[in-house]
Amino acid sequence: MSLATLLRTRIAQTGPISVAEYMAECLLNPDHGYYSTRDPLGAEGDFTTAPEISQMFGELIGLALAQAWLDQGAPAPFTLAEIGPGRGTLMADILRATAAVPGFGAAAEVCLIEASPSLRQKQRDTLAGTPFRHLDDVSGLPDAPLVLVANEFFDALPIRQFVRTAEGWRERLVGLADEALAFGFGQPDWPAELAPRTDVAEGQIVETCPAAAPIMAEIAARIAARGGAALVIDYGDWHSLGDTLQALRRHEPEDPLANPGAADLTAHVDFEALATAAPGLTASRLTPQGVFLERLGITPRAQALANRLSGAALDSHIAAHRRLTHPEEMGTLFKVLAFTAKGAPMLPGLEP
Ligand code: SAH
Repeated sequence: MSLATLLRTRIAQTGPISVAEYMAECLLNPDHGYYSTRDPLGAEGDFTTAPEISQMFGELIGLALAQAWLDQGAPAPFTLAEIGPGRGTLMADILRATAAVPGFGAAAEVCLIEASPSLRQKQRDTLAGTPFRHLDDVSGLPDAPLVLVANEFFDALPIRQFVRTAEGWRERLVGLADEALAFGFGQPDWPAELAPRTDVAEGQIVETCPAAAPIMAEIAARIAARGGAALVIDYGDWHSLGDTLQALRRHEPEDPLANPGAADLTAHVDFEALATAAPGLTASRLTPQGVFLERLGITPRAQALANRLSGAALDSHIAAHRRLTHPEEMGTLFKVLAFTAKGAPMLPGLEP
């Protein structure tokens, strides 16, 4: 039975479900979930990500993380963690670039937090020869200084959507119309968590991501207690506003209800909610990805790599540099927010 049929049957029996429940089923249902059943990344997949576009992304991030580690006295051992590691490409690039930083690799206990069995296998293949552990969630992170990176992880967490009306907030729900999945709205309510959103006009939608704050808080607790840093890269903004639920299949947007379990579903990240969940840490300024990568020296790195390339490889390398940094590509839409232990220097490229 397809996931669409399962969802229709469930909704017919027990009523409409939240957008968050819908997203959770579509992405991580053990038998039909998008991430559970496939490797969605790359040219043949449905979407691509910065580490898959160019090795430069992971190299620069690795060196920024290693600098944060050095700035905090090079603690050993420490946990080098990635949450939502996809194919393992980012971690492989981080480890290769930081092999030149004395002591970093030897002190690092590498942990990958990954929910998808198929991507876990892909990560084992990519990182063959590197000792690392898979964790189910952040609660399993060791009690040690923590250096963590999350690229396009928080955008995959299920969101709830609410529209503001004169009578209160009405949650957007997934129900049935003529037996097909269809959006509707629940009864008006005044949830306490939306009380601060006095900026939202009637008819506008806001999104909340219930899973994000507990994950961020768990990461923050370790960094506050033992030291370290976290670097979050994703698309989104300081404040969530508007409907940003998006489905991508074969690199094209589509109706999020059209193919449950077969399309990637994401929503913009509300970075303020992450910062609010980590009051014990220092947060950087929210910085566009393009600005961050330029400050870390992506242009000289790109030129050094270009010297070894020619023909089609050179063209695609130049296109990759542009794609990561240009304001019309990923440079502005994607943002970077870093966290360090209070009193520790901020990561390079994100200093105040
Ligand atoms: N960071 C990678 C992959 C981004 S795709 C890259 O930049 O290429 C999102 C990743 O998060 C996938 O690895 C997916 O399986 C994982 N993921 C999604 N929800 C998760 C959850 N609740 N817990 C752990 N991993 C999750």
